[in-house]
Amino acid sequence: MSARNILVINCGSSSIKFALVNEAQATFPLQGLAERLGSPEAVLHWQLGDEKQSLEIPGAAHLAALEQLLPLAQEAAGGKIDGIGHRVVHGGEHFTGSCLITDEVLAAIRANAQLAPLHNPANLIGIDAAFALFAELPQVAVFDTAFHQTMPEHAYRYAVPEFLYKEHNVRRYGFHGTSHHFVSKRAAEMTNLPVEDSCWLTAHLGNGCSTCAVVNGESRDTSMGMTPLEGLVMGTRSGDVDPNLHSYLHRTLGWSLEQIDRMLNHDSGLKGLSGLSNDMRTLYEARISGHPGAMLAFEVFCYRLAKSLAGMACALPKLDGLIFTGGIGENSSAVRSRTLEHLKLFNFKLDEQANARCTRGVGGEIQAAGSPRVLVVPTNEERQIALDTLALLDV
Ligand code: ADP
Repeated sequence: MSARNILVINCGSSSIKFALVNEAQATFPLQGLAERLGSPEAVLHWQLGDEKQSLEIPGAAHLAALEQLLPLAQEAAGGKIDGIGHRVVHGGEHFTGSCLITDEVLAAIRANAQLAPLHNPANLIGIDAAFALFAELPQVAVFDTAFHQTMPEHAYRYAVPEFLYKEHNVRRYGFHGTSHHFVSKRAAEMTNLPVEDSCWLTAHLGNGCSTCAVVNGESRDTSMGMTPLEGLVMGTRSGDVDPNLHSYLHRTLGWSLEQIDRMLNHDSGLKGLSGLSNDMRTLYEARISGHPGAMLAFEVFCYRLAKSLAGMACALPKLDGLIFTGGIGENSSAVRSRTLEHLKLFNFKLDEQANARCTRGVGGEIQAAGSPRVLVVPTNEERQIALDTLALLDV
């Protein structure tokens, strides 16, 4: 059987990220982004092999963008695409793993849209458009939440009245599951430990950030909750705040729920603390030149991350290693180093040369002698989505 090709689609409200994943190739034959969909500035960017190109597609919505993408994907796949894997943000309690998309699955994704009103409807648009264009191909939904469905009840319940959980789905779900799953599996491979007998703390640090405790290949706790706002300081998201902040801002400033939601999701985090940027690279430069906001944002980010990792350790019977991933985790030796300074009780020590070497896709172990393992593991959510899709094609 020749190596199979999976088209991976991650559909947002006005964008589509895509990659063609070949099961036998380490790099993607095709990858790209359609953005500003539905507007006069809609544009498709792609990289086919080493060649980068862009095409303006004014006014194009998701279906039209996928139509443009189809011949590119077919060319890159040598005419044979075997299946499509869709990232879907919220699977609620219904989905404990990836699944072939059927009418019942579509109905359940729709039913979960209340839990992720910005994401699931956009994911569904992508699925509908892909079915319209690739009717004959098997399509698979891969959920950000599914990996965390193994959390025990004491980790996923909030201390609020029971009916809110039983009747209104109020509980912790967790996100970034595809990434936590991929990097914990990869770390086991890198250290020659069996996945089913290894325990990891993972820190996915991108624009969104979360930590996870992975025991024998299963999530036992994670820092994000009912929505991706809970937990760590992120690019523009606050992470944990006192829940009474809502009523305080309403009473004292007269802010509406929409204003408070916008502030916590879009104007907080690194951006809010620094008053400068949500981008860790910018903050790193500014911090070196003494910008007080950038220094504070960096310190709060690392301290809160360390505090979350220490909390996650409660879910582990042993620790085989701490894993950094995501744009910040894979690239910022400064964040890794500062975070571990707050975790002295765990005896973490870094080999600073190995730490500095791990950047731009280079992974590896970065601990000094005598320290528990610390690994930098580049994540690859597209590959994990393709692997899940392939596994379901085999069934
Ligand atoms: P997303 O969550 O959107 O996929 P990424 O995983 O690409 O985001 O992470 C984006 C973050 O990674 C940004 O804060 C960016 O500044 C940071 N980042 C990327 N490269 C570096 C670097 N060399 N040093 C520090 N931070 C970096």
